[in-house]
Amino acid sequence: YYGSTSSAQPKAEHSLIGKLDKIIEELGLLEKVKDKHVLVKIHLGQNIGFTNIHPFITGYIVRKIKKAGGKPFLVDIFEQIEKAPLRGYTLETIGCPIYPVAGPKDQYYVEKEVNFKGLKVIQMGGLCKDADILLDLSHVKGHNTAGFGAALKNLALGCYTQKTRWGLHGTMQYDKYWFPEKCSDIKKTVDKFIKACPYGCIKYQDDKLRVEFNLCNQCMRCVKVDDEGCLKIQRSNFEAFFEGMAITTEFVLEHFDEDSRFFINIGLDITEYCDCWGFTTGNILPDIGILGSKDILAIDKATLDLLKDKPLIEENVSMSLEINNDPRLHPFARIHGPWKDPYLQIYYGKKYGLGNPDYELVEVLPPGERKSLSLPEPSFPEPLELDL
Ligand code: SF4
Repeated sequence: YYGSTSSAQPKAEHSLIGKLDKIIEELGLLEKVKDKHVLVKIHLGQNIGFTNIHPFITGYIVRKIKKAGGKPFLVDIFEQIEKAPLRGYTLETIGCPIYPVAGPKDQYYVEKEVNFKGLKVIQMGGLCKDADILLDLSHVKGHNTAGFGAALKNLALGCYTQKTRWGLHGTMQYDKYWFPEKCSDIKKTVDKFIKACPYGCIKYQDDKLRVEFNLCNQCMRCVKVDDEGCLKIQRSNFEAFFEGMAITTEFVLEHFDEDSRFFINIGLDITEYCDCWGFTTGNILPDIGILGSKDILAIDKATLDLLKDKPLIEENVSMSLEINNDPRLHPFARIHGPWKDPYLQIYYGKKYGLGNPDYELVEVLPPGERKSLSLPEPSFPEPLELDL
C-alpha cells in the first residue's frame, strides 16, 4: 500500500497522515494488537541529526495501537536512547516507553551461531524475543555501506548488540584483498594507494593494509596505480555486508509469525547518509510518501522502484562525494558505488527466504489529475510588479 505525497485536495483526510490511516487499515494492524506487546522498531538518530521519522508520525501510530488495546513500546540500539528527547522522542510525546533493544548495558540478547565470514555468533536484542507483534517503522535514506536503509536494514543492524553490528561490518574484511607477496616495494606501493584514494579509505598500520569498504565508492583509482596486482577491489568484500544483513534479519523475523509482522516505510527527508551518522544534510531525492506492507522485501523493493527514476538532487550531495552518471544505476548507487547497489538487499533477502519481492502497488487515496486541466482556459491577472 502506498500513500504518495500528491494529494487530491488540501484536506486532512487526503494528507500524508490521512493516507497513513488508510494504509494501517489496509494492513489490518489494529485488528491484531489487542492485549499484545507490540515492538515498534525505530531509528532514533543521534548527535545533531534531525531527519529521523518525525515524532508526530510515530506518536500517531502508537496512539492508534493503544486505542485498539495494544501495548506498544519503541526500541532502538542503546547508544541512541539517551538523546532521543532531543529529537522529540519521549514517553509523553510518543505515548509509550522507549527501550534499548538489548537492555541498558547491551547485555540482554539471544544468541545464534552463524559462522559467516568471521562472524561466529549474532546477538539479537532480547526485547525482539519478548514481543508478540513486530512493527518495523523505517525512515528511508541513503547508507554508505548498504546503499540505502529502510525496512531490512532497520532490523538487520538496529535489533542487534554493538558487538554484532561491528562484527557485521567486519565481514567485509574477510575475503583476502591485499597481496603483499606480489609487491616489489611495499612502502612505495602503499604510498601510491593512499595518494590515489579520494576518500582516505586505505590505511597501513602494523605492516597491514586495510581498505575501509564502508566509505569506498569503487572508483578503482587505487587499482589503476597498482601494476603488480597487489590489491583487489572485489564484489565479495562489499556483498558480505548485504548477505550478513539477510542473516541477521532472518533471525529477527523467525521470532514473529508472518501474520504478526508489519512494515511501514517513511519516504520523507531522504538524505545521503543514514540517521546514525548524526547529522542532517539536504535531501538528495524528492519525498515519495509512505508505504506499508506485510512483506519486508516487497516494501523495500517497492520503495527502491519508486525512487529509481527520481532525479538525484545533486546540489545536496556533499561536494566531497563523487556522482556517477551511469544511467543504469539506482540514484543511491550513483553516490555510494555500483557494488553497493541497494537492490542487493532484495537479492540476498530473497536468497534467505525473508519474503517475496514481487508486489502489486496499491495506491491509497490516489490524487487523480489536476482539476483545472478539465476547465476552460484561465485568465489570471498579470504578476505584480512591486517596487521593493
Ligand atoms: S576503489 Fe575505493 S579504496 Fe580504491 S581509490 Fe576508490 S574509493 Fe579508494
